[in-house]
Amino acid sequence: MKTAEHAAMVIVGAGQCGARTAHALRENGWEGEITLLGNEGLAPYDRPPLSKAVLLGQKTTAQCALFNDAFYRDNRIDLRVDAPVSSIDRAERKVVLGDGRSVSYHRLLIATGAEPRRLAVPGATLAGVHLLRAVPDALSIVDELTPGRRIAIVGAGFIGLEIAATAITRGCEVVVIEAAARALMRAVPEVVAGYLVERHRQMSVDVRFATQVERILGESRVTGLKLSDGATLECDAVIVGVGVTPRTALAEAAGIDVADGIAVDDTLRTNDPYVFAAGDVCSFPHRLFRRRIRLECWKNAEDHARVVARNMLDYGETYSAVPWFWSNQYDMTIQIAGMPAFGTTSVVREVGSASRLFFALDGEGVLVGASGVGQVSEVARDVRVAQELIARRARIDPAVLKDPSAKLKSLLTAEAL
Ligand SMILES: Cc1cc2nc3c(=O)[nH]c(=O)nc-3n(C[C@H](O)[C@H](O)[C@H](O)COP(=O)(O)OP(=O)(O)OC[C@H]3O[C@@H](n4cnc5c(N)ncnc54)[C@H](O)[C@@H]3O)c2cc1C
Repeated sequence: MKTAEHAAMVIVGAGQCGARTAHALRENGWEGEITLLGNEGLAPYDRPPLSKAVLLGQKTTAQCALFNDAFYRDNRIDLRVDAPVSSIDRAERKVVLGDGRSVSYHRLLIATGAEPRRLAVPGATLAGVHLLRAVPDALSIVDELTPGRRIAIVGAGFIGLEIAATAITRGCEVVVIEAAARALMRAVPEVVAGYLVERHRQMSVDVRFATQVERILGESRVTGLKLSDGATLECDAVIVGVGVTPRTALAEAAGIDVADGIAVDDTLRTNDPYVFAAGDVCSFPHRLFRRRIRLECWKNAEDHARVVARNMLDYGETYSAVPWFWSNQYDMTIQIAGMPAFGTTSVVREVGSASRLFFALDGEGVLVGASGVGQVSEVARDVRVAQELIARRARIDPAVLKDPSAKLKSLLTAEAL
């Protein structure tokens, strides 16, 4: 392993991927310095509970911390939580901080995550209009979700639907406004989205598609929405969940390639051999799907961290994990393996009274995605098996996928033959 006496492994972004990479560097034997630079004023934490347990009052934001102080001390990780990086000097191999100081790197990881998109409409900055990415956002949304209040959610993606479920559970009236013709457009096929939306409607969420917000109404605080269909909707708060944009500005300014995220190769290395990118911020070529993808999910940040740490130590390992994502809404779990949105054919398997598995096959009949919706005990195992089948690029007869009595596990054995 190469070591550099006076330079550190430097990680920009003290989020999930950054913190896990710092840990993995130590686990893989790096003895030199590790500097983890953040800009949130908080030690790295898990974001998924922010739209679920934290909003439901079941978890405090302090309980979302990934590690305690002793962890950073014991692992000699120099965590700086108020150290925004303002530029990268590739020639000198150093990053420059907001206060003008600089930190030299042996290898650099950019793990700056993604920025929630704002609505570009009048009224978007009124009090009572929220985004959800970070702890302060979650804390201000918690205060809005009191019984009887009318909450308008813009965007029927996973974040929007999770907030809808928590808001209903907390006794709010909830309307979801979505510009597209259906929910979860980029994530899952229509049949999966339809199944989830049906559940939201049963829970009294008013879900409206093909509708845009033209203006957010109010003097200093939001009082309502003016919609593209001419309707005016009164509400007490608005929560915007219209997707995220990868934070690529630092990389772009430094002349690092960007293609829907910082463009890395299948070892998560950028076009600069000393600079890597991982997590939500990067796009990478995936051998299974034969294209460049960018993921915005917890498991990807975890898996990237493990591989990028090794590659910062020159192992040169290829990243090819099958994507896996989960969401919780009401008493339902949603677990997704692979890239269901890349499928051209959907097959539905009914498992239990309220659980479904949805399989996505591509044009060649290869399984590219599987989504399980319902009870964890009824879907989790099969989604895991499907993940393995996706890894093998298995071609499976749709009739078998549909039949609840056909054991998916037996297909693994058949595939292995
Ligand atoms: C509310 C919410 C719920 C979610 N729920 C789920 C879920 O149920 N399932 C799932 O799979 N995924 C979920 N996710 C997604 C998951 O949390 C992300 O994919 C994951 O956090 C990505 O990790 P990351 O380290 O790449 O980015 P982040 O966690 O965003 O970390 C990036 C860090 O870099 C910092 N940074 C940016 N620029 C600079 C700079 N110039 N200098 C220093 N620091 C900088 C940022 O402030 C941030 O702290 C959820 C996300 C959110 C927001």
